[in-house]
Amino acid sequence: MAISKKQMKTLAEVNFDLFQPVMVQTRPIMPIREETPPDQSNIISLPPVSWLYRMFDEFNQQFFEGRLPRAKISYSDRMLIAGSFTPVKNEIKIGRKYHRIFPDEIADTLKHEMIHIINPNHDSRFKSIAARIGASVRARSHPSLRGNYKYLYICPHCGREYPRQKRLRMAYCGICTKNGQYDARFKLRLSNSKED
Ligand SMILES: [Zn+2]
Ligand SMILES: [Zn+2]
Repeated sequence: MAISKKQMKTLAEVNFDLFQPVMVQTRPIMPIREETPPDQSNIISLPPVSWLYRMFDEFNQQFFEGRLPRAKISYSDRMLIAGSFTPVKNEIKIGRKYHRIFPDEIADTLKHEMIHIINPNHDSRFKSIAARIGASVRARSHPSLRGNYKYLYICPHCGREYPRQKRLRMAYCGICTKNGQYDARFKLRLSNSKED
C-alpha cells in the first residue's frame, strides 16, 4: 500500500507523540544527586596584580634576603599551566585558568617562579630551595587544564607553549632558534610541573 506524503507526515507526528511519554517514563523517579562540583571558573576572582607584587616583596625579604631583582608579574588568560618565568623578559606569569581551579596555590606558584629567577631548572638545588621556602616543585593536574593535546611543551626561554599529540625529542623553540642557534636554553620542556 502506497503511503502519501501527507500520511507520512501524520505518521511521523504520531510516532513522535508516542515517543515522548516513553522518554519521560525512563527518567528515574528520584533524581540522582549530581556530585560534579559546580563550574566556578566565572565565580572565583583572583587577587589583583598589586597583591602579587606585595607577596613578591614579602617572600623576597623572608626567603631570599631581599636579593632577588624585582620581576614583572602578570596574569595569563591563555596559559593552562600554573605559572612561568621568562628570563629574557624577567617576567613571571600566573595562569588564571589553573588558579581558578586551585585558588589556594597562588602564593605557592609565585614562590616556585621566584626560585626560577636564580635557578632555571628543577634540579637538586631548585628542590632544596623549594623545600626550604615551602614551594611545590610540581603543579597539580585537572581535566579542564588538558587542552586537546596529550603533551604540552614550553620554551623555558620565551615561555611559548607547544601543545602536541606526540612526544617530542630534542625539540627546540622555533621563535628562539630563528638565527640557527640551537642553544640548550631553547630546548622545549615537557609541562608536568609548576611552570615547565
Ligand atoms: Zn622560545
Ligand atoms: Zn618550574
